[in-house]
Amino acid sequence: MTTATNSIDRDGYHQSVWQVQSPLALSAPVPGDAVYDCLIVGGGITGLTAALLLQQDGKKTILTEAHTIGFGSTGGTSAHINTFADTTFLEAESAFGEEGAKQFAQAIKEGFQQIKTNIEQLAINCDYEDKVAYLYAEDKDEAKQLDDIYNGAIKVGVEVSRATTVPTTVSYVQALKFDGQAQFHPIKYLQALQKGYAAAGGIILENTLVESLSQEDDIHIARAGNVSIKAKKVIYATHLPPGINVFNFKCAPYRSYVMAVKLISGDYPDDLIYDMQEPYHYIRSHQIDGQQLLIVGGLDHKTGHEDPEKAFADLEKYIRQYYDVSAVKFRWSSQYYVPVDGLPYIGQMPLAAAGVYCATGYNGNGMMLGSVAARILADMVSGNESPYEKLFNPSRVKPVDSFTEFVKENADVAYHFVADRFGLNQLESLQQIEKGSGKLVEVEGKKIAAYCDEEGIIHALNPTCTHAGCVVNWNAEEKSWDCPCHGARYGIDGKVLTGPTTIDLQKIDNG
Ligand SMILES: Cc1cc2nc3c(=O)[nH]c(=O)nc-3n(C[C@H](O)[C@H](O)[C@H](O)COP(=O)(O)OP(=O)(O)OC[C@H]3O[C@@H](n4cnc5c(N)ncnc54)[C@H](O)[C@@H]3O)c2cc1C
Repeated sequence: MTTATNSIDRDGYHQSVWQVQSPLALSAPVPGDAVYDCLIVGGGITGLTAALLLQQDGKKTILTEAHTIGFGSTGGTSAHINTFADTTFLEAESAFGEEGAKQFAQAIKEGFQQIKTNIEQLAINCDYEDKVAYLYAEDKDEAKQLDDIYNGAIKVGVEVSRATTVPTTVSYVQALKFDGQAQFHPIKYLQALQKGYAAAGGIILENTLVESLSQEDDIHIARAGNVSIKAKKVIYATHLPPGINVFNFKCAPYRSYVMAVKLISGDYPDDLIYDMQEPYHYIRSHQIDGQQLLIVGGLDHKTGHEDPEKAFADLEKYIRQYYDVSAVKFRWSSQYYVPVDGLPYIGQMPLAAAGVYCATGYNGNGMMLGSVAARILADMVSGNESPYEKLFNPSRVKPVDSFTEFVKENADVAYHFVADRFGLNQLESLQQIEKGSGKLVEVEGKKIAAYCDEEGIIHALNPTCTHAGCVVNWNAEEKSWDCPCHGARYGIDGKVLTGPTTIDLQKIDNG
């Protein structure tokens, strides 16, 4: 399948269709002892858009990315650009009132417009195309939900109509049509922002994971290995802010699965198509290096729960049921965060020093919400008022809490492992692990996260997530250790792939 060399890094074993793109080789200036106006942490759509806006506004900024630009969910997205969202406008109204729902719709529109403005201003070639989106219901219950989506959209002024036909072979009972949607290539877009930012004097430090933040005389000092960066303001554009914080209770981490396939018929849909299943499937086409591909996603589940291999198998089965697949060219999964009350959290980070901002909880709508978050945070950093400050305030308290699953599973916080008490390769339970796979095994009453490489060597880790002490699970598809509590993810060597943690899993010596 997909293992191109010289391509964008990614947060798991499978590379997305976008990440085969070569990384940009821009020189990275070493930060001096300067005090920057703003440090932006995270090189996805939120971070790069915010960095560009601030730099264009005349601010002196620096951006750090733990890996390479596009490593996170922006490299694993499916990049549909919409005027509607996973939280329906009626749901938004029931939690935030009619005005709140209208503002939510307006924010999505502004995020969409921000992408278009950047494309125009920087003359970006990122395969941007205007599209029509179809949403269809397969039974009466789904049709009722579709009615709600229709009524909600009308109420907030989002253009929608009843569709009589949908470009799908799935049989449906009712459908909606949204004009004025779009799609693009997210990495081509990010790289153009990266170039524009560098051209405006912005500094990007890749492979620079910010481990801690402290404050001296109103100046924030970020530490990343032996680099320290001083800034007047800080934006955490890390998707989920690192460390133990309120978002561990306000945002639920989910994985979503995507495949890009070739069709025998060559009959690729030209539109964006969504069903109403729970979780829903999302479908579109894209031409990559002259090759047309059908992109289908879905099978979402909470990170570290359920079986990723089964998710891919079920997704492939679904695609083959409705399309004449000749080859599966790419498959990947990535992470998103579901906010507890339906709206994103954008603004001053709760319980952090003043001037530390964050943006998270975009659900599956981070292209628009990440882009508008960047505008909101750039305004806040510059001391300008944003109309969205109150609605998206990360400190807001809502009585709604639908995430009973937030209970910490498998927690063994006081777990301390004595590493060198035994020879790891000698133990029977470890010898049973197949080459190229991992397993949680129990040795002398203690759990070990053990991976057996192709040479038969066991790589053993303390499975206690360094974020909040839950026990990680093996993800056979992405060859990663995933935490079922707050979504932290680690490679087979224990290195952090996805926050909120910033600390690697503890290695156990192979004695
Ligand atoms: C499969 C899938 C499909 C999706 N499809 C769509 C879609 O069609 N339309 C849509 O609008 N949205 C979609 N989304 C959601 C969207 O992709 C995300 O919301 C969006 O990409 C988030 O962007 P971000 O910049 O905030 O985060 P990311 O792109 O995740 O960037 C955060 C970056 O921060 C870095 N980082 C983390 N911690 C640190 C640290 N301590 N120091 C330095 N760097 C750090 C990470 O390495 C990462 O690169 C989808 C999501 C998934 C998973």
